[in-house]
Amino acid sequence: MIIPQEAKITPCCPLRNSVFVGGQLTGKSSQEIKDFISTKFSVDVSHVLKTLNNPYGHAHFKTENDAGIFYQRVQGQEFAFSDGTKIYFLPSKMTGSNEYTVYKIEDEASTSHQNNLVTTLITLNVGGILYTTTKRTLLKKTKFFSEPFKDFDHNGNIFIDRNGELFKYVEFIRTDDLPKRTLRDNLLLEELLLEAKFYHIQELAVQINRIIHDVGYQSYY
Ligand SMILES: [Zn+2]
Repeated sequence: MIIPQEAKITPCCPLRNSVFVGGQLTGKSSQEIKDFISTKFSVDVSHVLKTLNNPYGHAHFKTENDAGIFYQRVQGQEFAFSDGTKIYFLPSKMTGSNEYTVYKIEDEASTSHQNNLVTTLITLNVGGILYTTTKRTLLKKTKFFSEPFKDFDHNGNIFIDRNGELFKYVEFIRTDDLPKRTLRDNLLLEELLLEAKFYHIQELAVQINRIIHDVGYQSYY
């Protein structure tokens, strides 16, 4: 089946994700241009749309941010292939329109903010069971997790040599309330009290003690 030329140049990505590629590019293939841009500027070009006989084309990037950052670097300059073929870049625009795309570039602050959120994710290995949470959550009720840790499993996760099943009830530090299913189980509550003491979560210990002493074991049966 022969794909019509038009089909190949139908926009496949949002206009804002693309940068116009101009110059004396007749005879250069999409792949050659993609390789030139990726190698010279060390950027990740999704693909280049250009027919061999056209002097220009479009380079597509994964996001508007990527296209904008690339365009900032190259605007107003002319570059050359090793054979001397000239190439330059313009913001993309709709066919027949005179309005060039103004790329929205995320400011660095928001980028580094995202990085912070990623890096504060912590995976704990508690007695062989893995828990992933944020450092912020862990530090909410106790200083225990701010201690430097000495034990790590073979994947580099912090290892805590305690009952991993019980640690799931320590989700108290996430929600401020003991999980409902623990409230009628005094044996579980007593085990949790030991965990609360081990992890220095005073609020949890106080809450458990109140439940154990206010409501007798017998009253539930
Ligand atoms: Zn595309």
